[in-house]
Amino acid sequence: MYAQVIVDIAHSQVDKIFEYSCGNEVSAGCRVKVPFGGRIIDGFVIGLSETPSISPDKIKPVTQVFDELPALVPECFSLMERISSRFKVPKAAALRLFLPSEMRHGKVREIYKKYAKVKDITVLISKSAKKQLEIINFLQANPVYDFTALCETFGRGAVNALAEKGVIEIEKRRIIRKPFAEAEGADAGKTLTPAQTEAIRLIENEDKPVHLIHGVTGSGKTEIYLKLIANQIALGKSAIFLVPEISLTPQMLTQLRARFKGEAAILHSGLSAGEKFDEWWRLRSGEAKIAIGARSAVFAPLENLGVIIIDEEHDSSYLSEFAPRYSTIEIAKMRAAYNGCKLVLGSATPSVESFVKAKDGEYNLITLKDRINKRPLPEVIIADMCKEVRRGNNTAFSFALRDELDKTLKSGNQAIIFLNRRGYSQKVICRDCGYVAKCEQCDVTLTYHSEDDCLKCHYCGNRYHMLPACPQCGGVHIRYSGTGTQRVVADLKAAFPQARVIRMDNDTVSGKDGHFKILSQFSQKKADILVGTQMIAKGHDFPSVTLVGILDADMSLHFEDYRSGERTFQLITQVSGRSGRADASGRVVLQTYCPDNYILRYAVNYDYNGFFENEIKLRKATYFPPYALICRVMVTGEDEQKGIDVLKNVYFSMENLRSAHPQEFIFMNKMRSPAKKLQGKYRFQVLARLKSNKLLEEIYAVAAAHTTAETLVYIEENPNNLS
Ligand code: ADP
Ligand code: ZN
Repeated sequence: MYAQVIVDIAHSQVDKIFEYSCGNEVSAGCRVKVPFGGRIIDGFVIGLSETPSISPDKIKPVTQVFDELPALVPECFSLMERISSRFKVPKAAALRLFLPSEMRHGKVREIYKKYAKVKDITVLISKSAKKQLEIINFLQANPVYDFTALCETFGRGAVNALAEKGVIEIEKRRIIRKPFAEAEGADAGKTLTPAQTEAIRLIENEDKPVHLIHGVTGSGKTEIYLKLIANQIALGKSAIFLVPEISLTPQMLTQLRARFKGEAAILHSGLSAGEKFDEWWRLRSGEAKIAIGARSAVFAPLENLGVIIIDEEHDSSYLSEFAPRYSTIEIAKMRAAYNGCKLVLGSATPSVESFVKAKDGEYNLITLKDRINKRPLPEVIIADMCKEVRRGNNTAFSFALRDELDKTLKSGNQAIIFLNRRGYSQKVICRDCGYVAKCEQCDVTLTYHSEDDCLKCHYCGNRYHMLPACPQCGGVHIRYSGTGTQRVVADLKAAFPQARVIRMDNDTVSGKDGHFKILSQFSQKKADILVGTQMIAKGHDFPSVTLVGILDADMSLHFEDYRSGERTFQLITQVSGRSGRADASGRVVLQTYCPDNYILRYAVNYDYNGFFENEIKLRKATYFPPYALICRVMVTGEDEQKGIDVLKNVYFSMENLRSAHPQEFIFMNKMRSPAKKLQGKYRFQVLARLKSNKLLEEIYAVAAAHTTAETLVYIEENPNNLS
């Protein structure tokens, strides 16, 4: 037999299919080791043939075969082709997406345990070998027994002697680490409301492949997803359920484990490498049929998919920030098409790009207008912070918010204080000369952290001593600007000394289960107020939360980004949605310096349609996505001059494209990126706005053509941020 092999080196020069000879134990999808350029390296078998395509004496044999069950499912080969041609990445890089990284680097291994069983009792055993006879008797009563335990009881010598004579057999069996083996309770599911039943009917009976559920916060979307999954499992199919990582909260995990038991494999960052690998293997072997996880779970090794669900489909985490920079929805569409299954997107605030497709009839739109049991959406109170300042209130809290906090605490309920930190930080500024402290590595503003009394860079994690004097003018009038979560916590403690306050942001969340701990504490009511940033906005369901305070609601409006209106609307709706989800009704206090802003007005009235109609008109008139494609060609490298040279060449090629297709370009420019240097690498860019994605392939080709060993050139499509 001959195997077609992709070697596990993501480099364009070896992005070919190589041929090796092999035995019958090799099948398509297996991982193998093969000789390559004087070394032995990993490879993936993507096909087999009886006859070689080149002269057999030029073909070397496969050195080692790994998987009894091929690691790659057949669908991978078709997706590999599409992904590598779509994002211009080597096939090996596309295949890697389908394997847990733990598996590729041999960091984790399958755990095996040895078992003993009787093989041939016709072999004569001398009467004097008492121990050996005892073992045979024992094994006849206990047919398969733990080898180590057997040795401990009867002595290793006797056990080995029997094995040598062929009386007993020692076999290795694979042991699976089950992180959720202890999953407690059973959850058969709730009785669906008429609205939920109707939504499921509309999805299951409509032929369109993509469905968008637009349902207000607390409308019971999760229950719909779980029922859709259960229905497919009952048909013998499998399912993928994607959520933003942060939504894998303790409660959500408990619910999923109770509902699906061992049938679900949950892939999240809180698992150890070994656990993650074993969960992946349970999916591959068919023991588990439901993959639940963040973005990368879209590559789960499942066959015969019945449904793919993407919850909070608007979430920015669904766009990969590493090569290949795929959109999860796009990959999900490819998988849905391959499997002939449905793709269900859901959100209370769908992205403008998805909603326009639903409006145009490309997606099937399902609307849930009401919360479960018609619970009211929380009432939003706007606090005009300009007025507060005029009234002499210089704290982070408006009078209205203080008042509501007081009431909430007195009634024994919980509150969430949300700090909108986008484009916002506690900077260090010299009041004499205007000097602002920046990171030497990254050229971004440093943030002061009072806990450690130091300055930190949020891009690379570097720490700097606090400045006793300004390094530029020597002045000593250095001050911090802006409010951080720490300030807010300190102010809260001063105003409500009896309240238990916890904080959740990038600085308090460390380790693989950092946010789990904080969120479980809060959900067990071990704290009264949770203060946090973007991390606390999504997906959580805390029944006792009846108040949400949004400090600086308008902060993200002042961001240089065509999506800032959309992001602000989503953020306010999502954060507000955490309030009043159970029996007690909820309130939201929204603090702003521009109370008349139209985005805030739509958000306060939960008017998604109004927001959308306005936004889409604006996008159309100004040529922004979905009526245009923003394409950033990034040039990065440690050598500044080489970067500049490559940038010039890239720009030259892009100019050629523009002169050939002038009507396609709305805008194009070359420049240093706003963050000029990140993690030691200089960053330059050609930023283009195009009327369509017609030239995308050629632009990817430009990037590939100009990448060198020192300077990387890559493409970002409609990037989440332009820093
Ligand atoms: P969404 O995902 O739309 O924000 P959830 O799925 O979290 O909403 O549901 C909101 C609340 O309603 C949850 O506490 C959930 O347990 C409850 N719920 C959902 N469906 C039902 C139902 N059919 N009967 C009773 N309670 C329900
Ligand atoms: Zn830095």
